[in-house]
This record gives sequence, structure tokens and C-alpha cells, in this order.
Amino acid sequence: MHHNTPLISTVVVGLVLAFVLGAIAQRIRISPLVGYLLAGVVMGPFTPGYVADQNIAHELAEIGIILLMFGVGLHFSLKDLLSVRAIAVPGAVVQIAVATLLGIGLGWTLGWPIGGGLVFGLALSVASTVVLLRALQERRLIDTERGRIAVGWLIVEDLAMVLTLVLLPALAGLLKGEGGGEIGAYAMVQPVLVTLGKVAAFVIFMLVVGRRVIPWILHYVAHTGSRELFRLAVFAISLGVAFGAAVLFDVSFALGAFFAGMILSESELSQRAANETLPLRDAFAVLFFVSVGMLVDPAIVLREPLPLLATVVIIIFGKSVAAFAIVRLFGYPTSTALTISASLAQIGEFSFILVSLGVSLALLPERGRDLVLAGAIISIMLNPLCFALLDRMLAKKEESATPEKPAEPAAPRIPLEASKLSNHVVLVGHGRVGSVVSKALRQAQVPILVIEDSPGSVEKLRQEGIEVITGNAAAPDMLQAANVGAARGLLVAIPDAFEGGQIVAKARAISTTLPIIARAHSEEEIAHLKHHGANTVIMGEQEIAKAMIAQIGLAGA
Ligand code: AMP
Repeated sequence: MHHNTPLISTVVVGLVLAFVLGAIAQRIRISPLVGYLLAGVVMGPFTPGYVADQNIAHELAEIGIILLMFGVGLHFSLKDLLSVRAIAVPGAVVQIAVATLLGIGLGWTLGWPIGGGLVFGLALSVASTVVLLRALQERRLIDTERGRIAVGWLIVEDLAMVLTLVLLPALAGLLKGEGGGEIGAYAMVQPVLVTLGKVAAFVIFMLVVGRRVIPWILHYVAHTGSRELFRLAVFAISLGVAFGAAVLFDVSFALGAFFAGMILSESELSQRAANETLPLRDAFAVLFFVSVGMLVDPAIVLREPLPLLATVVIIIFGKSVAAFAIVRLFGYPTSTALTISASLAQIGEFSFILVSLGVSLALLPERGRDLVLAGAIISIMLNPLCFALLDRMLAKKEESATPEKPAEPAAPRIPLEASKLSNHVVLVGHGRVGSVVSKALRQAQVPILVIEDSPGSVEKLRQEGIEVITGNAAAPDMLQAANVGAARGLLVAIPDAFEGGQIVAKARAISTTLPIIARAHSEEEIAHLKHHGANTVIMGEQEIAKAMIAQIGLAGA
């Protein structure tokens, strides 16, 4: 029966199997991703039983990528993107170069020609968008500086791969050594220029036309009051722009969707648009993992254990060591470098596209493709482990941190003069939460000192004569500069509980009696903050619930 309905059977069998195996994986305390990937292996052509349509699975996966990138764009502004370019561009370029060289080296030992090694190396150099975003989202890292660098890095990799895909067919003859002499500089440079021109045309088009039209459409639809139409508009915009970008400008779906989201992020409706896309986004992300699993022949583990091991080592260690070194070289703290490394220690969708092209151009032996596919699935499976390791390393660093021996060497700072305030409240973070708190404290004439990372949001406070220290409160000397030792209390009003934990631990090391109140979003975060010395932890979601209950009670009274 399913022969007549390949789309339905692929979607249904994929989701059902992924659900069952994902739930089992969760039950035995491993990442559900592993379950999704195994569902793909079960549905794939290399295992007995039902075989799903690979082309359809692949296209479904592309929709997942579009929706995910659109979602990322929604949280990203052009300013964010430009603010990380100084590290993301050189970082991605050097890291791609290192991984490619390692790949060429491995290809050479396996007896492949240089062109094959090049395709192989490039395929190992580019991380999967879906895997990276899932990992960052799970850890609420997307909105942090580390998260922004990782996403910016990904965009640069994405652009590099778009160029590679265009260039490879043009250079295939040269790489195979056929008629190399006939290919002049023009033939090599021209496709690059054409591609860059198309990307530039797309970006300009989006900034000039898209920026006006897209928010206008969404506002218009929002005012009709139809939720259904609003949802439809969001999907139509994300998928439509991605498809249009690919057809008209030859850029990848992912890049097109990212720009559509970024344009929308300037509109106040962006949060609503993000929420509307969530359920479908999750469903299609699962199908992405299933479609990856389908490509893998599990027998390769027995057939080629050593080359496979070498491939996995390049993906997980080669790339991350390179990334770590570059990020540290740029003066970022170890925690940032480790997060970027863990984020990039995997490969995915672009690698599959690249190796398929390499094989069809007769550059890469089929063995190379199989190694990349198996390497991808293993690296995706191990990625949650990399993050767990990262958490453990960071926790260790944090524990060994004392005020005299700070955990983060961080960027060199001018020593801060300690505040003369005493019996004051130190408030960390002046965003949605902190600004309300500071207003109330000022009205009650309680002396306060604010530590805030982003300078723009505290300019007004400064003008009002409030003492403000700009910078990360977790950085060395910040709490001493705020004179927390003499304060009547510390309020940690930032959303990232991990960073919050660092701040709490440092303050606790300065004063054992200081009352510390911190902000959290989950039970785990509450435990984490309390473990580090917070007296009281307020969970935002619980307070919202309480306020809602109180409101309904009032309304009924
Ligand atoms: P919100 O989630 O809207 O309450 O905003 C949180 C605020 O805390 C933002 O203005 C951030 O710039 C700020 N923030 C986040 N992390 C830190 C940190 N480690 N040190 C100082 N300020 C921070």
C-alpha cells in the first residue's frame, strides 16, 4: 500500500519510529537524537525490512533546515552578526583550512588523489546547522555571546560551502588533472565572482525590498486578527524566501531562511512568529535526523574500522582543537572557546551534499562518501557527550576559582576602583527583570550599584547618578569593585543560570553572610544556583504562574 504513498509513509514511519526509539533513548538516559538517527538506519536501504524513499526524506530534512535557520534569524539582528565578524570570519576560515588539510592527509594515506582528499577534507570541516542549533537551544546559549559567535561562525561556514558547491564542478577537471593547462585564471575566478555577486544581490534585495515588505505583510496579517492567517504568513515568508533565494540567487535554502528571519527580527512581532514556527520546526528537525540515519551503512564499522576512527578523530578533535586555539588566540575566555569547540565537533547536511557532488564528479571514491556519512552519524551521536564533557570541565574550573585565583584569565582589564558604597544592593543585569527591580529600589531610596554587560541599556542610569559598572559580572574583580563585601544584598537578575552560578560562587567566596537572590528558569538551575551559595532562587515561570493564579482569583472575586 505504501508504495503508492511514499511521502505519507516516509513521514509517518519516520516520525513513529523516531518517537519510539527517541523515547527509549531518553529512558536509558542518552540523547533522543541517537534514537532519531537509529530510526533512520532502520528505515534505510542497508537494513532489512521497510525502506523509505531517500529523496523524499532528504527534502523533508531540507524543510527542517529552513525552519531552523529562520528561527535563528528571528533571534539575530544584523548588529549581532556584524558584532562577531572579527572572530567568526577568521575563525571559520582557519578552521576550515585545518580540517581540510587533515582530510587531505587522511585521503592521501588511503591512496586517494588530491581532489578526492580535498572534497573529503572540506566535508569534514563544516558543522551541521541543525545539530549546532539544537545543542545551543537546549542549553539556552543562543542569546549569549558564545552562542552568537557560534552562529556567526556557522554562517561563514555556510557561505564558504555555498562557494565550494559552485566552484567544485568548475574545478573538477583541473583537480583530476585533466587538461589542467587549459583552465586559466579566468575560469577559476569567474564562478567565484558570479557566486559572490549573487549572494550580494540577494542580501541587498533583502535589505532594501524585504526589509520593507516582509514586516508590512506580517503587521497587516496580525491586524486581521486571524491566528491561522498569521501562522500561514510566517510559514509562507520563511519557506518562500528560502526557496526564492535558492531559485533566483543560487544561495542555499538555509541562508535564505536565515535572512528572512533576521529581517523579521526587527519587528515587534518576531517573538510571536518564532513561537508559531516551533512545533513544525521540531517535527522537521526530527525528520532531518531520520534522513541522516537512512544514509548510513552500519557494516562500515566492521569493514573499515581504522579509516572510520581516523575520520571521527578529525571531526571531533582536529576541528575542535583548531577552533579552541583560534578563539583563545583572539583573547576570549576558555568557556567561550570550549563552547565553540563542542558546537563544531560534528558534521551534517552540508557534508552530505558535498560528498554526493564529489562522487558524481568522480572526484571522491565512494568509500570516501561512506566514511563521511558514518563519521557524521557517529559525531552527531557523540556531540551531546562533548557538551556534557564541556559542562564538567567548566564546573571544575568554577570550583577551583577563588577570588585570588580567578577562573577566567579573560581579556586584560584596567583594575577597577572599589565602590565607596556600603549597605547598598548590588544588582547584576539591567534588562527586563533588573530594570524593574532597580526602579523599585530607587523609589524606596535604597542605594544601588548596577553591573550590566551591555553599556547601552545603562546610560540613563548613569546620567541619573546611579553607580554602574559595565562588563560581565563573572569576570575577575567585578564583584570586589562593586564592594559586595559591604553590601546588604546581591541580586543576580540575568537569564543564564550557569553564568549566574559563577557570579554567586564568587560573591559567596567574598562574604559568607551576604544575602544572595538569583534568577532561574528550571528546577536544575535552581539546584545549581543554590549549590553555589544562593540563599533564594526565584524561578521566573513559577512566579508568572502564581501571578496568573492570583489574577484569576481576583477576577473571580
Ligand atoms: P533580561 O533577560 O531582559 O532581564 O536581561 C538580562 C540583562 O542582563 C541584559 O541586559 C544583559 O546584558 C545582562 N547580563 C547578562 N549576563 C550578564 C553578566 N554576566 N554580567 C552583567 N550583565 C549581564
